[in-house]
Order: sequence, then C-alpha cells, then structure tokens
Amino acid sequence: MPLGEFDLIERYFTRRGMIRKDVVLGIGDDAAVLRMPPGMDLAVAIDTMVSGVHFFPDADPASIGHKILAVNLSDMAAMGAEPAWATLALALPHADESWLAAFSGGFFALAEQCDVQLVGGDTCRGPLTVTVQMHGFVPQGVALRRAGARPGDAIYVTGTLGDAGLALRMLRSGVEEQPHAHAAFLTERLDRPTPRIAAGMALRGIASAAIDVSDGLVADLGHILKASGVGARVEVEHVPVSPAFAVMARHKERWSLPLCGGDDYELCVTVPPEKQTQAEQILAGLACGYTRIGVIEDTPSLRCLLHGEAFEPTTGGYQHFGA
Ligand code: ADP
Ligand code: MG
Repeated sequence: MPLGEFDLIERYFTRRGMIRKDVVLGIGDDAAVLRMPPGMDLAVAIDTMVSGVHFFPDADPASIGHKILAVNLSDMAAMGAEPAWATLALALPHADESWLAAFSGGFFALAEQCDVQLVGGDTCRGPLTVTVQMHGFVPQGVALRRAGARPGDAIYVTGTLGDAGLALRMLRSGVEEQPHAHAAFLTERLDRPTPRIAAGMALRGIASAAIDVSDGLVADLGHILKASGVGARVEVEHVPVSPAFAVMARHKERWSLPLCGGDDYELCVTVPPEKQTQAEQILAGLACGYTRIGVIEDTPSLRCLLHGEAFEPTTGGYQHFGA
C-alpha cells in the first residue's frame, strides 16, 4: 500500500534532528509554538525550489534537501541572524520512499550542523516543489541590511565566486566528463552550498550593508547600491575564484561567471574605513576566506575595472519573469 500523508510525515520528518529548548511544540499539532529569546528580533526568510526550474528533475534528492535549507540559511547569514527554526512545504508527484529518505537525510544533516529544528510544514500531491521558511534571531536593531553602504566603505566577499555558475554550464553543455577532482569540487559548490552563517553573525555592528550572492555579484551588489543610494568601483581582477575554477573555466567565462554567475551563496558586505581592520581580523579567523574587491563611491551605479580599464560584464542575474 502506498504511504499516506501522515505516515510519510511521521516516517521522514517527525522527531528527527535537533531538539531545541525554545520549541514549545513542534511537528504534530495544528501549529508550532515557539519561544523567542528576550531582546531578539525575529528574521524570517522563505525560498522555493521547483523541479525543472531550480534543479534537474533527476537531481540527487539529498542535494535538494541540503540546498533548499542552505539557501534559506544564506538569507539568515546575510541579515546577521542566528538560524533557529524551519518549516518545510513539500509538493510531491507521488510518495517515493527512496526519494524521501535521501531528501530528508540531506536536509537533516545540514539542519543538525546549524542547530536548526524542523518545527512543521505541509505536504501535498503536485509537481515536485520544495519550500523552506527559516526563522532566526538577531539582537534588536542590529540586523544587517542592504541599505547602509556609504562612500568610502570597502567591499568584501567571502569564499570564491563563479564556481556554481561554471558547474551549471558544464552540466548543461552535457559533455561526459571523466571523473575529475576539479569538476567534482565545482558540482559540490552548485549542489551543496555552504551558508556563511558565522561570517554574517560576526559582522553584526561592523558591516554597513550585506547581501548573499544568489543571483550573481553584479546583480546582488547592485541591490546594495540601489538600497543605499550609492555607486561602487570593483577591481575585477581581485574577485576571488577557486583553483578549480581557474583550471576549468573557458577564456570567455574567466570574468563573466565570477561577476554574473549565480548560486554561489557567498556574502558580499561593505565596511566603513574605521572598522576595516576589525572586519579583516574577524574574517581571517573563519574558514571561508575573504577578499576585498572594491570601494563604495558617491557616483551612482557600478563601475567594473579590469587592470585599470573599464570592463563591461555581460548582464547579470537570473530573473524568473525577466525579458
Ligand atoms: P493541518 O491539516 O492541521 O494543517 P497537516 O496534516 O498539514 O495539519 O500536518 C500535520 C502536522 O505535520 C503539522 O504539525 C504540520 O506542521 C506537520 N507537517 C506536515 N507536513 C510536514 C513536512 N513536510 N515537514 C514537517 N512537518 C510537516
Ligand atoms: Mg496543513
């Protein structure tokens, strides 16, 4: 007999992973009951991934479970918030137990690493779609925003950019690659992004603005510039890429993917001059690494310079309803 909705929830999602003390009531009632720590603001973010739009229909379900949580955790990181509670809405074409086992395995592995408890959700039949809503805490008034960058602030990014975009291009071009350490690294970056939670939390009260790079650096830094009413100069040759990217990228992708490729989930932050030493000390103590790539300026819009010459990146950012 096929697995019913309630058995499915019970088997794959109830009493799994973290038990947090601030969860008064978790999965199993009409709503979860959650207790906010005093003095904290609640940060809330939600993201959906649709089969055929955000992932290939035959994608590894463990990676989908990881990534739908990771992209929400990345939004927490960009706010300087400490993640706490998740809810999960699933539309499934059928109750495929091996898919559910792998999906929930990927989800709970990351949830445990980040002290996140799954406290509820919704399950229905439909085209494969996964949605996570994430809730996190940030001390009152100190959430990192997109608005707040000022002329003279330095622009930093964590980790490396372009890896996920290159992995996607390699998957799409469909050439049967031999198993290759660099290709495996890039695919891992696309399928299992690492949310930069520690960096976001450590930069509370230090960064003047922050965003996570989900749509590409040019597009996402553009959001900071617009929200802050400023412009910026980016030294393109300083934008950090991984050794795998440097080896595997085609010549014409060398700058376009780090600038415009999406899905890397690194943080892009701005820091005022008097806090840059402190910011660099903090970021140097984290595993993700960081690079200073440019400066905020008065003149509106983004100027990209490659070795001092104006550089026009191919337009960035995937838009679902764009032309
Ligand atoms: P209701 O009909 O009252 O909305 P449901 O039958 O949808 O309740 O869900 C029963 C319980 O299981 C609720 O506590 C809900 O939060 C939880 N739940 C349902 N689907 C999921 C899921 N995919 N992941 C986690 N919890 C879920
Ligand atoms: Mg329901």
